Amino acid sequence: FVELDQVTKKYGDHTVLDRVDLAVDRHEVVTLIGASGSGKSTLLRCVNGLETIQGGRISLNGDVVSGEGVDLVRLRRRVGIVFQSFNLFPHMTVLKNCTLTPVRAGVATRDQAEADARVMLERVGLKDKVGAYPDQLSGGQQQRVAIARAMLMRPQVLLLDEITSALDPELVIEVLNLVRELAGDGITMMMTTHEMPFAREISSKICFLHKGSILEQGPPEEIFGAPRAPELRTFLRKIH
Ligand code: ATP
Ligand code: MG
Repeated sequence: FVELDQVTKKYGDHTVLDRVDLAVDRHEVVTLIGASGSGKSTLLRCVNGLETIQGGRISLNGDVVSGEGVDLVRLRRRVGIVFQSFNLFPHMTVLKNCTLTPVRAGVATRDQAEADARVMLERVGLKDKVGAYPDQLSGGQQQRVAIARAMLMRPQVLLLDEITSALDPELVIEVLNLVRELAGDGITMMMTTHEMPFAREISSKICFLHKGSILEQGPPEEIFGAPRAPELRTFLRKIH
């Protein structure tokens, strides 16, 4: 469904992604792991066109979405992304944060967008916060709004980049529960996380990135239970 074929990303002379091949099936949850600087965020950013690539190709449901002439507006509608920093609009209510983009993009009328947003916000447990402003919410609540906002664009793929890393430990769980539910609904996801037990539980596939290359990928049981690459073994030892 999402395919990366020999994807290479460079910043000047620095190769950050080196001929990466990766295939994500529909309804799959794929988690990227690897040391800081290994290229995880860059890979996600390439998938929704926040970065251009210098080699290879990325396709989504059969359409090439990398290279020149790509409709970035359409691509970003099809591929949602949520970051570590919630990036909500501070001067807008929760409801407005959720309806602005769908209305602007023509995905829904204002009435429809509001109705959809209320349903989604209830679903993420924030029914009573629709009129609140972001600074009146906890980090976990803000992140749930950010996820709801991304989902309201009805993306074909959801990218999650360390979405719990900025949260206090007691707030991490509520965000993970929401991601677990979305995975259960069959939302296709690519993510990075430091929450290894969680990644192991919900991912269909784990990819280990090392210096811009995928050194090993496979089902979580294999990657965590029987890692082969010495670099992966070292990485897993360090994080435990
Ligand atoms: P972390 O676990 O710390 O989030 P990461 O695996 O997500 O790390 P990336 O953010 O993808 O790593 O960075 C990969 C490499 O690309 C790093 O060496 C980084 O310095 C470099 N890099 C990232 N963004 C830029 C940029 N805008 N300009 C130049 N180099 C960059
Ligand atoms: Mg990163």
